[in-house]
Amino acid sequence: MPLLLSPADRVVALVAHPDDAEILFFGTLRRWRDAGAAVTVVIATHGVHGISVTDRDAGIRLDAEHRPAESAAAYAGTEIDVECLGLEDGALQPDRHLVSTIEEVMTRLACTVLLTHAVHTGNDHQDHHAVAKAAVNAAARIPGCTTILHGQPIAAHHSVDGVVLVDITNHIDGKLKALQRHQSQSGRYYLGQPFTRHRSAAPGWAKLPHQAADGRCFEALTPSLMLLANPPERP
Ligand SMILES: [Zn+2]
Repeated sequence: MPLLLSPADRVVALVAHPDDAEILFFGTLRRWRDAGAAVTVVIATHGVHGISVTDRDAGIRLDAEHRPAESAAAYAGTEIDVECLGLEDGALQPDRHLVSTIEEVMTRLACTVLLTHAVHTGNDHQDHHAVAKAAVNAAARIPGCTTILHGQPIAAHHSVDGVVLVDITNHIDGKLKALQRHQSQSGRYYLGQPFTRHRSAAPGWAKLPHQAADGRCFEALTPSLMLLANPPERP
């Protein structure tokens, strides 16, 4: 499926935690920014509870600025904007507060293309579910938001079901560097090189094996079908 973005597009990558956007679609965002679209990463929570049990036992604490600053560093020099809504992580609910908070930010950014988490996934993080549900709900009231794309769940054993494959071969090294910016999360398998390379090869092997055999790297996205039935009209 061709997915053409133009300088008139305003992409909002709406995620739950400070490292999610890099894991799900760092290369995609870089490509779309290079195509001239405005791109903003919006992080719902500050992520202070994203700390390992070992670190917590060692007395390490995070403040509300720590992890959003790591995200900002991940996008330094890319012309991609990053903002954090400062909500508390771990117990997000797709309730009126979350939906209206998201609606406000999407309206302010004049979002035409929304990227977010997968909606229906068994063992993905509970905050990912909440953000995806609230974002889809809010997007229905954003004039001009004609495309919603969902990243693959982060769970290691989830099979690829994306139908939009974005070739990120030229950005895989940058993606690995961006993931390393999340120093407070170091040691987590899903930020490391083996998992990231595997995850970027898997969509190719599933859908485009010839390209996978050539070493191409991908990010897989799943569109919301309802909105695809509504052809984009852009200024
Ligand atoms: Zn997350």
